Amino acid sequence: MMVPMTTTLAIANQKGGVAKTTSVASIGAALAELGHSVLLVDLDPQACLTFSLGIDPEDLELSVHHVLTKGLDPTEVIVETDDGVSLMPATIELARAEADLLTRTGREHVIRSLVEDLAEKDVHFDWILLDCPPSLGVLTVAALTAADGVLIPLQCETLSHRGVGQLLDTVHDVRRFTNRALAVWGVLPTLYDGRTTHARTVLETISETYQLDVIEPPIPKTIKFAEAPAAGRSILRTSRTSKGAVAYRAVAANLVKRAAV
Ligand code: ADP
Ligand code: MG
Repeated sequence: MMVPMTTTLAIANQKGGVAKTTSVASIGAALAELGHSVLLVDLDPQACLTFSLGIDPEDLELSVHHVLTKGLDPTEVIVETDDGVSLMPATIELARAEADLLTRTGREHVIRSLVEDLAEKDVHFDWILLDCPPSLGVLTVAALTAADGVLIPLQCETLSHRGVGQLLDTVHDVRRFTNRALAVWGVLPTLYDGRTTHARTVLETISETYQLDVIEPPIPKTIKFAEAPAAGRSILRTSRTSKGAVAYRAVAANLVKRAAV
């Protein structure tokens, strides 16, 4: 019998505003459209992913921090969303989890344990996408420790490469100490303005400097993204045919190809 595989991806960049959360929501919705089962995990105490999928963190009694710090059964926290994906939501309490975990043995492994607990309970997802907070702290390291691969959303501006080096140093440490199997799947150009040669030059410089694959196609900058979170749905549902939605579907299809090899 074939054992179904789960691909766990961390979407990470310690810079805020580079479309980590937007990418998690949109790629998740696109994978669901392709018939895959998807779990999104909100690892940012700001809970933007949770909000953007139509759930008010203030209404939640249980959230991801109960799983990470109190050992709650992860299945008790998962909620279904209108986008056809499952979500492990966050609340502001997750900010305290970061501090609590700092003194705990095995803190790097808390998310890996969560993923393993789900598998042991026969709760299967084809994809688990981890929406990392804008820091290289405990939660991001724990996400990288749990992941098969990392995607780095990148806004192609002059100074954006400075953070990439630091992030790759962290990836290197994670590979040495907690997760040898972690692979960098590549940078995902976001908020991309292809009309400027500047964006293309920055992208080429970064991918050459750090020898990183570029995940195609780039996600164009479009006003439609500003409207989606307020609707509690991803852009794939609020603006089905916009060029942003089309680009995220193509990215998702490429990720599926990559996972299959
Ligand atoms: P992060 O999670 O990295 O902090 P977000 O996904 O929250 O970033 O995105 C930051 C802001 O940029 C949000 O207001 C979002 O709506 C907007 N945004 C994301 N992607 C695009 C895009 N392709 N075009 C225009 N705005 C975008
Ligand atoms: Mg975010």
